[in-house]
Order: sequence, then C-alpha cells, then structure tokens
Amino acid sequence: MNKDLKEQTRNAWLEVLAKYKLDANAPATDQIWSPSLECASRDELITIQNAKLKVVTPFLYENSDFYRRRFDSLDLTPTDIKTVDDLSKWPIVDKLEMMENVKQEPPYGTYSTMDEQLWEKRGWMLFSSSGSSGVPRVFRYSHVDRDLWEWANARAIYAFGVRPNDTVFLASGYGPHVFAWGVQYALQRMNVASIPGGGMTTDMRANIIDRFNPTVLCCTTSYALHLGRIMQERGTDPATSSIRMLFVGGEPGTGIINTRNRLKELWGAEIKEFYGCTEVAPHSGGYSCSHAEVSEDLVATHLMEDHQIWELVDPDTLTTVKEGERGITVCTNLNSESSPQLRFNVGDYTVYSKEKCECGRTHVRAMGSFAGRSDDLINLRGIKMYPVQLEQAIRAVPNIGDEYEILIETTDAGLDIMTARVEHSEDVSDLVVNEIKTRCEVTVAVEVLSPNTLPKTEFKAKRIRDERIK
Ligand SMILES: [Zn+2]
Repeated sequence: MNKDLKEQTRNAWLEVLAKYKLDANAPATDQIWSPSLECASRDELITIQNAKLKVVTPFLYENSDFYRRRFDSLDLTPTDIKTVDDLSKWPIVDKLEMMENVKQEPPYGTYSTMDEQLWEKRGWMLFSSSGSSGVPRVFRYSHVDRDLWEWANARAIYAFGVRPNDTVFLASGYGPHVFAWGVQYALQRMNVASIPGGGMTTDMRANIIDRFNPTVLCCTTSYALHLGRIMQERGTDPATSSIRMLFVGGEPGTGIINTRNRLKELWGAEIKEFYGCTEVAPHSGGYSCSHAEVSEDLVATHLMEDHQIWELVDPDTLTTVKEGERGITVCTNLNSESSPQLRFNVGDYTVYSKEKCECGRTHVRAMGSFAGRSDDLINLRGIKMYPVQLEQAIRAVPNIGDEYEILIETTDAGLDIMTARVEHSEDVSDLVVNEIKTRCEVTVAVEVLSPNTLPKTEFKAKRIRDERIK
C-alpha cells in the first residue's frame, strides 16, 4: 500500500470526524448533551452520515487489507460508496468472515486500520470480543478512538440521567472487554465519580454498596440479579440500598420485560441500557433515554445515528425491511480511527421507528429494544425460537427462581426434546409448560428443582445446553 495515500486518506477521515464532533467536552443543555446532533433533522443526519461515509471508504481501502481485497473482488472502488443509498452495493460482512480473516492473518486479522506504526505512535488499548462463539476478534484502539469513545459514551450516559452528583459503581472484571473501560473513561469526561469494582468477590461488592453508597450500579443484567440476591441472603434489601439506577450492558437487558420487571422490583431502581457489539464500535451504539419506557410492556432504545448507520434487514434475504417491520441490525461504524466497518451484521432482532421521541431526540429507536441475536436461534424439530423467548416465558411464572437451564437432547428413538429445569418450592410444571407453549409454540418437559439447586450465574448467563446428536 502507498504510504502517502495511507496517510492522506486517514487525515481526510479525521478532519471530517473533527468537523462533526460537537459539544466535545461538556453537555450543551441540562437534558441533552449535544442537541445539535441528537435532535438533528433526518436530512441533517443523512448529510453527516454521507460526509463521513465518503471519506471512510478510501480510508479503509488504503489502510485495511481485508477491505481492499473485498473492494477489489467485488470490482468496486471506494468512490462507488459515497452515500447511504450506495451502501446496498456492499454485501454485508459477518462475524464468520472476520473470524476467517483472523485465522489467516493472526493474531489481529486485517479488518482494522490500525498498523504497527500507528500503534507505536498513538496506540491506546487492546480489546477483544468475548470469543464465546469461535475465534476472538481483537481490536487495537488509538488515543483518537479513546477521545471519540469517551464523548459518545458520555452522551449516552447523560441521556440515562447520570449527573455529577452520582457515584457509579462498576461491578465488572474489566479485562480486555470494552464495556466497563468505556464507561470508566466516559464518567471521567462527565465529571462523575466512580468506584471501580474489578477483582472482587460478590460479597466484597455487596460491602461496597453497604459502606460507600454508590447511586448507580453498572454491570451485566445477570450480575445485577446475582448481586441483588446475594445482598438479600446477607440480610440487606437491595431495594432500600443507595442504588437508584441500574446501568446494564453486555447481554440483552431491557428488552426482556419479565427480567426487567424482576430487576426493577429487586433493586427498586430504574434500568438503563447500553447496546452494541465490539466489532462495530467500542462505544455504545444504542442507549435508553428518559422516555425509554414507552408503555408498561414496551421499551425503546435510541441508536447513535451521527456515529453509525444502522440498517435493519431481513435475516434470510438480507434486504432492507420497511420501517415498522421486524429485521436484524446491520451497522456501519463511522466513529473510529482504528475500526471503521462497513455493514457489519450485528444480527439483533428489533423493529425501527424514526418518529421523534418525546425526549426530543430524532435518532432512530429500536422498539422493544433488542431481544435475541440471530445466531442464537434454536431450531427444535423445525420450530424456531430464541433463548430470550424462553427466558421471558419462565420468568412469567410467579416466584420462580432466577436460575434455570434449558436442556436439548436426542432421545434413544432419535427425537429431539427440550427440558426446562427450573427452581420453585411448588410444582409449577403446568404453568411453565403453558408459558413456553404460548410464547414459543413448543411443548417442553419440565423438571422442577428445589430453590438454590442450580449453579448461580455471575456474569454472562449461559442457560442453553444443547446436547443433541447432530
Ligand atoms: Zn428518547
């Protein structure tokens, strides 16, 4: 690759990013960090997206082997993709394609624009996808990314209603995962105090809440449930603790209404959510606003449209669905020096609404938030369902334990069957069967165990055990 072109396209890219980086260090109003971006008209948003897209394609072409090869093999040049309308020329990139790239060119692959020289000059931190599904995707970010990241996350956390009089407790193991670090740096930008809770047992974290009275708890959904239960066992009621807000991320949160209600009741706190995935941006792509609860059973999540282009496509044909129809998310990331991406298949199901939100923001909302990634789909004898539908069903049963397990296995007769293993002090098998039948159209076997039999989930829940003979 031509060194001058590498540099020129990078600089052109950074100039455009800088142009639209408004309200960089402090909020413009007491409600919305950057109204000129967050409340921009649809035309203004498209103008911003087009301006960034026009410079990102040459930047990718000159700085990423993965992208250059893809452009060449599709017989496209960077100038073929200058506007949002041109995006459909670019076939969607998926996780498997990235994993293949890492396998061929370990350990980083070439889908990023970070090279050794830049890493030496302004390298900041290395993060990795969790690796729960195959080869981990690794991303090296620069200080330019850190700056963009802090700003984007600060805007989202500000929309939650977090303010300098809060103290945020981050109950996370940190490690090379983007979530807690991004929050930590953003809080610094927001002038909000924090307590980093890495490397601690749950008991120690419960002590922190008891002794130091943080007002916001930041963790995964599973961990908020776990920590709350441990506090109850210790004789403290989380609902009367200092925590006024749960800030969850890392796994489906607000979109599973029964889990959401369980958490709200347990903590007597409001719930706000970060949505995103490591591959398309270190920072949050989506977040709850002050009007995230549209009704009792509908929550909405805004997507950051000046930073990213969020498409919704049919999971089979990968063509754009109409507004109001269900589809899976595809993201073009316009807000990273090290990891811009074109049309990455994030794969979460939702429905979009571009109607202006009552909070005043115009950025598209995912109605019902997100409840299930397309690659988690369970197919049982031709009936398709998502783990979150099963979770929703089980948690609809009153007083059922937080832990459960779904076992899928093949019988001696060669039939695939599903068993829900749940905890309850009474025999609730009929109720569980009915709830699952109603939501997932499948009849399952139920095993009711005594409370506290199943192992406790701490961070990310892994509740589906698929032991089918394939
Ligand atoms: Zn809103």
